[in-house]
Amino acid sequence: MFNQRVKIKELLSWKPEQQEVTVMGWVRSFRNNQFIALNDGSTNQNLQVFAELGRFDEQLLKRFTTSASLKVSGALIPSLGKGQTMELKATSIEVLGDSDGEAYPLQPKKHSLEFLREIAHLRFRTNTFSSVFRVRHSLAFATHQFFNSKGFVYLHTPIITASDAEGAGEMFKVTTLPFDNTPRKDDGSVDFAEDFFGKATNLTVSGQLEGELGATALGEIYTFGPTFRAENSNTSRHLAEFWMIEPEMAFYDLEDNMNLAEEFIHYLIRYVMENNAQDIEFLSQRLTEEEKQWPQDKRSEMTLLEKLHFVSGNTFERITYTEAIEILVNSPAYKKKKFQYEVKWGTDLQSEHERYLVEKHFKKPVIVSNYPKDIKAFYMRQNDDGKTVAAMDILAPGIGEIVGGSQREERLDKLTERMNQMHIPVEELWWYLDTRKFGTVPHAGFGLGFERMVQFVTGMTNIRDVIAFPRAPKQAEF
Ligand code: ATP
Ligand code: MN
Repeated sequence: MFNQRVKIKELLSWKPEQQEVTVMGWVRSFRNNQFIALNDGSTNQNLQVFAELGRFDEQLLKRFTTSASLKVSGALIPSLGKGQTMELKATSIEVLGDSDGEAYPLQPKKHSLEFLREIAHLRFRTNTFSSVFRVRHSLAFATHQFFNSKGFVYLHTPIITASDAEGAGEMFKVTTLPFDNTPRKDDGSVDFAEDFFGKATNLTVSGQLEGELGATALGEIYTFGPTFRAENSNTSRHLAEFWMIEPEMAFYDLEDNMNLAEEFIHYLIRYVMENNAQDIEFLSQRLTEEEKQWPQDKRSEMTLLEKLHFVSGNTFERITYTEAIEILVNSPAYKKKKFQYEVKWGTDLQSEHERYLVEKHFKKPVIVSNYPKDIKAFYMRQNDDGKTVAAMDILAPGIGEIVGGSQREERLDKLTERMNQMHIPVEELWWYLDTRKFGTVPHAGFGLGFERMVQFVTGMTNIRDVIAFPRAPKQAEF
């Protein structure tokens, strides 16, 4: 058997007493022709391999270049050197794969995140990105653990769909029709009858509508899958392909929905603080370093670690949209005309407004509820005031909107009336409306953008640095 290795993370938790072990990993550095810093991806901490002078062939030593892969066997001994408590005194070293150290793009110096994005195929080999991706994994795992422990069913909703959940033209089309000689009807429009599905289809923007079908039978479900938006927004918070977690619950009202979302976010943060302590510590220091390059007013008052402790230990602020507008209109920023976009009841909150509320006014996550119905989707439950819907967004410091959700309109007449007003094709969504005809129930749900959550927890300022291979306008490399 080849793979009888001990992972470095595990090994570093032992007491060194001459244990015979085998490790495998990649060379981070080799100094004084004796000391190899070996990393195997299980932790940012390297294992010091001690290759005693004279014990190994000169030709072999020359091959311990940066990123060469090694299999090392030896005995674990206490280290006399600074910086580590133990080292592996090698008895055998095998080069599994050579690396041209000169050509290797990751030199032992600081590289910018922008540069690393261009070599995304190798950036996992840096401390920053290995920490980010271990944390991302933990957040995914914790998500399943959280919902599973509550008896939610993980529902896989389709990726190819014929429905456009929001009615906005920001979907990627899926087709087998040829680009040239596209079959057309007499009126010139594309004839989808000849397409694979016999109708126009897209990549999904949300699993919500199908999720509601599951919830109104299984009770509580969640989806966790990729979603696609062809929105041309080149921001540090938008991707064309991102992962979304969408719980959908029967017998929940808006308040139940907010409670669940808040509990979920608290759970995720506590999970990584417990299970990824070293990674979070590292990322916190990284962010503090990065912030030193920023103007004073952009830097945060808390370190990442402090912020995570604070957010997971405190309840979120809850305000209505109407209260949010009042706060904004009465703010010094508004009076000094610092906002670029208009603040007026009935218009959507812009990112600058959300950030003001969260970062300047409350200094903690905020749940904003009961938005004007005209800026929200057709399926949100209409409030008695006739003007607002039972929507809620959760806004997080540094990120803006992290969750968008609502209580759903369960009353058939109200729902179809709203669909007609908003020109949503009622016939096409016959299956959705069936849930309102056959035993409709109050229900609610939300969507949490997974990458935005990873950003929040890792302190990475650009969303392209928390997904392995980002898809964004003009970017589909790797
Ligand atoms: P925003 O106003 O930030 O564009 P949205 O209102 O379009 O967000 P929703 O349609 O409510 O967002 O989607 C639910 C969640 O998915 C959002 O709260 C956010 O966390 C995440 N999200 C939305 N669009 C993107 C995107 N392009 N890339 C990454 N995450 C996204
Ligand atoms: Mn959007």
